[in-house]
Amino acid sequence: MARVFNFSAGPSMLPLPVLQKAQAELCEYGSSGQSVLEMSHRSSWFEEIIANTEASMRRVLNVPDNYKIGFFQGGASAQFAAVPLNLMGTGQADYIVTGQFSGKAAKEAAKYGKVNIIASTKEQNFTCIPDVDALTFTPGASYVHICQNNTIYGTRYAKLPNTGDVPLVADMSSCILSEPVDVSKYGLIYFGVQKNVAPAGMAVVIVREDLLGHARPDTPAMLDYATIIGANSMYNTPPCFCIYMTGLVLNWLENDVGGLAAMQRRNEEKAALLYDYLDGSHFFHSPAQKEFRSMMNVTFTSPTPELDKAFCAEAAKNGLVNLKGHRSVGGMRASIYNAMSKEGVQALVEFMKAFEAQHA
Ligand SMILES: *Cc1c(COP(=O)(O)O)cnc(C)c1O
Repeated sequence: MARVFNFSAGPSMLPLPVLQKAQAELCEYGSSGQSVLEMSHRSSWFEEIIANTEASMRRVLNVPDNYKIGFFQGGASAQFAAVPLNLMGTGQADYIVTGQFSGKAAKEAAKYGKVNIIASTKEQNFTCIPDVDALTFTPGASYVHICQNNTIYGTRYAKLPNTGDVPLVADMSSCILSEPVDVSKYGLIYFGVQKNVAPAGMAVVIVREDLLGHARPDTPAMLDYATIIGANSMYNTPPCFCIYMTGLVLNWLENDVGGLAAMQRRNEEKAALLYDYLDGSHFFHSPAQKEFRSMMNVTFTSPTPELDKAFCAEAAKNGLVNLKGHRSVGGMRASIYNAMSKEGVQALVEFMKAFEAQHA
């Protein structure tokens, strides 16, 4: 087996022990005589899987009792609509735009009510996050929406905005489970699982109980939080295998890694390896402003687009794949999610040093 170091932004690497466990159980789960891929979602086997996955999520993320967890299809993008449909009771909400996904979320929400863009870093090419202490929230806004880690631009909030009594809603697709989170600071957290949790096909919503039950009457049942969560995410056939894989990854985080504080230490160490090298390099440049740098998605450029292209091609030949930046920004991006090992980041830095020496 020759596994590459996969720096894809998503779908992305999964921990090898998790893949091996899934492989070992693929044809027969437990003594069920069948695969998780085949079994009825109403079977006692699957009921146990989904209950365990939710319980693990609660433990690992330390989710308070007054928060509910739901598993949704349609990815994080479906949540761009679900959030306003369920939460925009006053007919308006505040959005902070720090990249492509928060822009899309705001655009989608504007179909259902008034969206106030209270800050944007578009003019800075999304290389930073607005000063959260200088924000003016709109009186009467139902919630404030942020994208906590900007997957494409490689930035993240160093500090959360203090929204007072107004619920803070965060898209955490590309940073969830990378470090401990104080869930009580948020009204709602959502994330697509294909970045740092599981294979593609699901989004998870963690929502404060009192925010449920206020959806617009025309909200599709599949996007209605009270409907889906009220049915324990079994309103219809859920993404069964994805839920199972999420459970395996959470077990890995808990038992192999030792929880989110330990995961954070690993991730900080990996990110420092790459950023320290970038800071000392006269060849590569890291566009994200230092204080807002993402721990998960590291963006960088070489002196020319031609060299960027050569870099990605050469890197792939050396088993370092998917380093091309997002098609909208170019350059390079190394996504170093939980499953990327320190060895993978070290191999990347060694390759960058050699490339720099050859082309500088
Ligand atoms: C990838 C991503 C999305 C889109 O996720 P889908 O599951 O493809 O809809 C949204 N927000 C962020 C922050 C992302 O990284």
